[in-house]
Amino acid sequence: MNWTNRFTAPIGSKFAAAAFLLVAALAIPAVANTSLTAIYQQQSIRFTHLESYGNDTAIGVDDPGFATLLRESGAVLTWKPGERYVLITTDVPVVVSFSIGDRRYDVGPISLQASFAPYQRGNEAYLPFNEVLHALDLALRQDGAVAVVQPQLASLDVRNEGDRVTLLAHGGAPIHPRIVQQSGAAVTYEFDGVGTTLTGTRPIGAGGVRSVTIAQSGTARDPKALVTVQLMPGAAPAAPQQTDDRDVLLGFTGSGAPAAPIVAEQSPTPMPPAQGPPVSSTAPSVAAAPAGNPSAATTVTGVTVQRVAGGVSVTIAIAGNATFEWHRLREPDNRFWVDIQGAQLQGPPIEQNEPSPLLSMRVRQDDPTTVRVALSLSGPKSIEVSPSNNALDVEVGDNDVADVPRSGSGSVGSVVAVSEPNAAFVTPAPSDEYAEPQNSQDTTWKFGPRDQNAPQYVPTNPRLIVIDPGHGGSDRGTIHGGVEEAVLTLDMARRLRDILISRGWQVKMTRDADVDVYAPNADAHQELQARADVANNAGARLFLSIHVNAYINAGPYGTTCYISKAEDVAFARILETHLAADGTKDDGVIKSHLYVTLHTRMPAALVETAFLSNPSDYALLTSAAWRQKVAQEMADAIGQYTQEYPVPNQPAQ
Ligand SMILES: [Zn+2]
Repeated sequence: MNWTNRFTAPIGSKFAAAAFLLVAALAIPAVANTSLTAIYQQQSIRFTHLESYGNDTAIGVDDPGFATLLRESGAVLTWKPGERYVLITTDVPVVVSFSIGDRRYDVGPISLQASFAPYQRGNEAYLPFNEVLHALDLALRQDGAVAVVQPQLASLDVRNEGDRVTLLAHGGAPIHPRIVQQSGAAVTYEFDGVGTTLTGTRPIGAGGVRSVTIAQSGTARDPKALVTVQLMPGAAPAAPQQTDDRDVLLGFTGSGAPAAPIVAEQSPTPMPPAQGPPVSSTAPSVAAAPAGNPSAATTVTGVTVQRVAGGVSVTIAIAGNATFEWHRLREPDNRFWVDIQGAQLQGPPIEQNEPSPLLSMRVRQDDPTTVRVALSLSGPKSIEVSPSNNALDVEVGDNDVADVPRSGSGSVGSVVAVSEPNAAFVTPAPSDEYAEPQNSQDTTWKFGPRDQNAPQYVPTNPRLIVIDPGHGGSDRGTIHGGVEEAVLTLDMARRLRDILISRGWQVKMTRDADVDVYAPNADAHQELQARADVANNAGARLFLSIHVNAYINAGPYGTTCYISKAEDVAFARILETHLAADGTKDDGVIKSHLYVTLHTRMPAALVETAFLSNPSDYALLTSAAWRQKVAQEMADAIGQYTQEYPVPNQPAQ
């Protein structure tokens, strides 16, 4: 989708420079640490680790005021003394990565240049304050003698579809537009609580929109951003659409085309395309094969929404047998969708706004055999999914409810069945790794009795580490938003290899290209045995397999280390400790029967680095800086483990 003509706030804009001169002039002597008190969202925050750097200001990552600001703005900072990268995962989520000693920094996929390079003083990293605030969609302002950290209307993206134009407004705080002026010639939206540096007028000339003017009013503490859209004759504005609390769509249609509702852009991850069976083994497909198996004859003949007591009822009329699977996302996303599997949609796709507790509904043929009905909800509403022999009813309640089931499945038609909805979050067993069955709930690890006759494993090559990038070639691993596990694992494995070699280790990769190790489309047994053989045959010291996790919904996130053998435990524990601060949740060490850790003779671990199906983890996984950081933490863990557990009768590493 082409978002052309972005209005984005330039860094180092006259406002920013003025603000910092002000700050510098106000409180920071040339070199010494000093402090600043500023108002942020009606609360006073005191920054005490500020340093002046020429005309600019540096902020220390251990600044308690900074910690408050990050927490309040929904961002997380990860850095440890000595590390090169300082990562901030914002609420969007986007990963902002600074690198000690380098003025270049990244905000998601965008590379920028800071006014000075971050530096480390003692055990603290110092970052360019202006650039940090900007990356958080905030700016420093002055209200008389009082400093204000002001959320910004940070960008206004224009999507031009010929007869329709959609503006996507993004704020550094929740934004809810109010129409303060409207005529046939123009409509003005006011965004309270945000300032902006996007001021000015831009010609658009499409979709009934002549141009867009952005202005600011109000005070530094109570700012208002005004977006005025100059319309062409006969143009029709659609109702603003809140895609989440910091993103709003404003849609317009030219006089040429019929007025049409806005199409909410799919975020990269929450709506994974229906790629055949659900990704996770935990999703009970109770009625996987109902008696009347879903056939091409099955059709979704219509979807109606009607008000009922205490909410609305969405009825999906289905002629024939079908299975279904539904998922919902938690706050603030609150989207729900159900896939009718083995069905065709009768009639055109549907996209329309709906009354509360809904916001909108979309019905479309998601793939040749799946009809998807997606609902945007106005909050965490109760949902009842009940099948019958000729319909699926989705009851959405008016009231907000906490901790609701996140997914479920069942069937409609000659066999009516419904599964136990899945509870909120469990750390799922990795869905794509080949494993002999076992119950992962068993936390008291029992390792089979050690075969006393089996000689203890002694690496014939104690300087050799074998790294196994998961998947590759004919097996792409998990895929989300067009990002493939096989690509990410090879990237992280290569980074780890380079660090280990620079530290004097020998390294062998089970694959160093996007290929199968055994052969394309071989069975998992052959493919994984070939990987274990690389290490066993080489008499390696350690085996480390790198993977990326996924789940059927966006809930689970975090890093998990998997082991199988008693001798794996110490290595995995040390890995877990080093990876614990990588910016996502530490999901611990889990004993499992994963093939590669079971069939390698040396200490081994399989690391599921993060969940590609979770928006925040997705942002981390797609950040090169984060992948470098994870590789460094793995290398540090290997260093610590081999130091603490030297090979018997060998000099310590
Ligand atoms: Zn994998």
